[in-house]
Amino acid sequence: MPPRRTPVVDLARSPHALVRPVPVSAVALEGFFGARLKNNLEVSLFGQWEELERTGRLDNFRRAAGLFAGPHQGRVFNDSDLYKWLEAASFALARGPNPALERLVAEGMALVEGAQEPDGYLDTYYGLERRGERFTNLRDNHELYCAGHLFQAAVAHHRATGSGRLLLVATRLADLICAEFGPPGSGLRHAIDGHEEVEMALVELYRETRERRYLQQASYFVESRGHGLLAGGAYDRSYFQDEAPFRALERLSGHAVRALYYACGVTDLYLETGEAALLGTLERLFTHLMARQIYVTGGVGARHDGEAFGEDYELPNGRAYTETCAAIGSAMWCHRMLAATGEARYADQLEWTLLNAVLPGGSLDGRSYLYVNPLEDDGRHRRQAWYPCACCPPNLARTLAALPGYFYGTQGDDLLVHLYGAGRATFDHLGRELSIVQRTAYPWDGAVELEVQGEGEFAVRLRVPRWAGEASLSVNGASSEVPLRPGSYASVRRRWRPGDRLELTLPMPVRFLEAHPYVPEDAGRVALARGPVLYCAEAADHPGVDLRTLFVAPERPLEAAFGADLFGGLTVLRGTAVARPLDEGWRDRLYRPVARGLASGPAREVAFAAVPYLAWGHREPGAMRVWLGRLGAGA
Ligand SMILES: [Zn+2]
Repeated sequence: MPPRRTPVVDLARSPHALVRPVPVSAVALEGFFGARLKNNLEVSLFGQWEELERTGRLDNFRRAAGLFAGPHQGRVFNDSDLYKWLEAASFALARGPNPALERLVAEGMALVEGAQEPDGYLDTYYGLERRGERFTNLRDNHELYCAGHLFQAAVAHHRATGSGRLLLVATRLADLICAEFGPPGSGLRHAIDGHEEVEMALVELYRETRERRYLQQASYFVESRGHGLLAGGAYDRSYFQDEAPFRALERLSGHAVRALYYACGVTDLYLETGEAALLGTLERLFTHLMARQIYVTGGVGARHDGEAFGEDYELPNGRAYTETCAAIGSAMWCHRMLAATGEARYADQLEWTLLNAVLPGGSLDGRSYLYVNPLEDDGRHRRQAWYPCACCPPNLARTLAALPGYFYGTQGDDLLVHLYGAGRATFDHLGRELSIVQRTAYPWDGAVELEVQGEGEFAVRLRVPRWAGEASLSVNGASSEVPLRPGSYASVRRRWRPGDRLELTLPMPVRFLEAHPYVPEDAGRVALARGPVLYCAEAADHPGVDLRTLFVAPERPLEAAFGADLFGGLTVLRGTAVARPLDEGWRDRLYRPVARGLASGPAREVAFAAVPYLAWGHREPGAMRVWLGRLGAGA
């Protein structure tokens, strides 16, 4: 059987895509990423299915089909959890047969089919006694959001398996939505959903079916936002990104997941229409996000209140909200912007966000999840197996299942390597089968060997990450003259022969990062990074030391050491720091006159260690901090 085309987003016929993704099914990941994907497939997907069953989410579908007599259970948008799970399982099946998972997918699909009403409507909350209320509270009740997740699941399942079963359910609901909603004067309901999602999903459904009405409907929903249709509820219009039309936006605001899904949907629209004003606005929003709104982790959405973006530079650490879903939305947006522009800055941010904001949302063993991702903690915030609002766990599962599809792209004849990680990609390129084998211990080591197994004349373009100064490249052992500019793609064009080898070396010194002076919480503090990985300090490595009184400095170099026994293998930073416990004068007081000179308690040298932030919270409960005191900065 020929391999199926399973791109994360299918841009094969999108006229304004510059870069098109290589399919999920074409890429097998090993090493660091392979281990996470294995746990996702073998542990997370099965564990999440049990939670869907245990918490009544599946019973809601049985109830809508008349097979379960109890009440509707949980949140109004719980259907989306099964849909995200189905999308995750579908992308997982793209990698090969898995009878146990296929059985669950078949059961899930049957539940979805059974819950669909004769006219195509599908939402288990409105399935029975609330049938007359359908589409009456789009602002708060997520009907189109749930529909969007169904569409994405159906598209993924169709791509991965070739089966049209779930796609049929999706198109029947999409047809109903197209017949229900339209602009003033059309005689249809003029309304939009409070939670974006259906926009990008409708574009993908258009790509999968070539039914142009779905693209037009996505455009209608985007154009209808920003005109006050969502006014009057408990939140103001900006919570829903409804404060101004898209092209007038200066910054992302409101609920972070919604804002980023909105940006994804508009980018998908641009990829089909090519409207310059849309791309210009998207670029402006991204630039603003990077300059004033994003955490050093890549996490976004600072505020608990409204799960929202804060003001510019409002980036509290302990009170950071930074929902896992928002990081996922950001990664999805970066992937689409990379497709639209071919610019390495989007691939750079995609990688950083995946490693330092998405992956921390799940435990290394695939059994538990974070919803909120603080940058410092006192030991009370820990991963859980599930949440009453369980948007994040299946969202992480679908992201990991699709992760192989983020690694490579093509631009004309060129092959782009966006992400590094051990594994092999095999796909059709210029009419021939091409394999690229990556041998590397990335992200712990910056030596990446790429072996090209195939023939033809084309360019292989390697991303040189923005942090990679002093990068070097050799081709078949000979040093290359190709310029290697951090934050760009280095292009090696040649007539390739089987066995040709590229050796890219990305030096990974430990980097001490500082924040913009207008971020008050980070003043006088530094964060640690090495290569694409952000680090943090944990109490488990610093017995008897309050992390708030720990100071590091660029003048005290840290050594990177790979520990195979730690968390299944990762690189830890080690060195010394200064612990400066508070002096006795602070006992029972909050303020005092400034002392002459530097006020401080006795300093002592302590052994220091930092672990990757993606692995935080896996040991005995204790404090964690990303931003650490900087020795010499007032201490
Ligand atoms: Zn979430």
